[in-house]
Amino acid sequence: MKETVLSGIRPTGNLHLGNYFGALRNFIKMQYEHQCFFFIADLHSLTTHPKPDDFHGNVRRVLAEYLAAGLDPEVATIFVQSDIPEVSELYVLLNMLAYKGELERTASFKEKVRKQEDNVNAGLLTYPVLMAADILIHRPTKVPVGKDQEQHLEMTRVLARRFNNLYGQEIFPEPTAFNFGSDLLKIPGLDGSGKMGKSEGNGIFLADDEKTIHKKVMRAVTGSGPTEPNSAMPESIQNIFTLLRVVSTPDTVQYFLDKYNDCSIRYGDLKKQLAEDIYKLTLPIRERIEAISADNDYLHRITKHGAEKARESAQATLKLVRGAVGIKRF
Ligand code: AMP
Repeated sequence: MKETVLSGIRPTGNLHLGNYFGALRNFIKMQYEHQCFFFIADLHSLTTHPKPDDFHGNVRRVLAEYLAAGLDPEVATIFVQSDIPEVSELYVLLNMLAYKGELERTASFKEKVRKQEDNVNAGLLTYPVLMAADILIHRPTKVPVGKDQEQHLEMTRVLARRFNNLYGQEIFPEPTAFNFGSDLLKIPGLDGSGKMGKSEGNGIFLADDEKTIHKKVMRAVTGSGPTEPNSAMPESIQNIFTLLRVVSTPDTVQYFLDKYNDCSIRYGDLKKQLAEDIYKLTLPIRERIEAISADNDYLHRITKHGAEKARESAQATLKLVRGAVGIKRF
């Protein structure tokens, strides 16, 4: 069944291979199978007070990276959150239905309070309400969410239900998590443990150049090679192979597996191959990132077109919402 799917993108950090293989590639596939809305959540980023000089640049960079990687503005609706004023109005209305206690109990709020204790603004507290407004304004049925966002999606359902019950109309469907099932890959970092992340210092970014990729991969933790044939692989080597599997050909993977199993592997060669294949895979994306970032007319056209489509959908919802709440024009 064709679903309406919506996903927000945080305008922070550069995209790394984890984002690409773990999420973005699924979005790229999904956009041809469902009706998809993707938006850059720039208003959300104000909860951490980015500098005005960085604000627009962050949106530009992230948008260029997603477009370069393959989000297709011809098929999906791609827009910037602040271009849709209807979201802010729905946010105000939903805030009247959200309770202080339930907002204070969300795990992400508690974490933010710990992380930025001198900036516990109301926007942080009501972050799940803005997220609910982002989602509900398009009345989607599915939202692809990471583990950290599951609680927010539950909050979205609670608010949708509360609204529908209070006003006695089924305006909002209750969206559920989009399940990628076995397509969900976990990309490890280069530090021998854990997953690749933007702040862990263990990532390779789509925008990294050849030299940087090479340097990062050659520094990856490997340890000494196996001494017994067919011995169990330490986690750090498994991680290298996981990366190799996503960027290299099956023949290449098999070649190095055989070498591991007969103890003739040289980790320097393995890493050199990995670096080369990451470079080959990311080069066209990096070139497109550079071209798109520099093309203001293109970005203007895409975001204008996206905003028009998104506003059409948002205005239809807001009309129903205003009617239900009792807001009327004289
Ligand atoms: P982040 O910007 O770190 O919040 O990541 C955005 C999304 O990218 C997450 O919700 C995940 O779906 C995906 N992602 C991030 N890091 C990885 C990783 N190392 N492996 C797989 N998926 C990842």
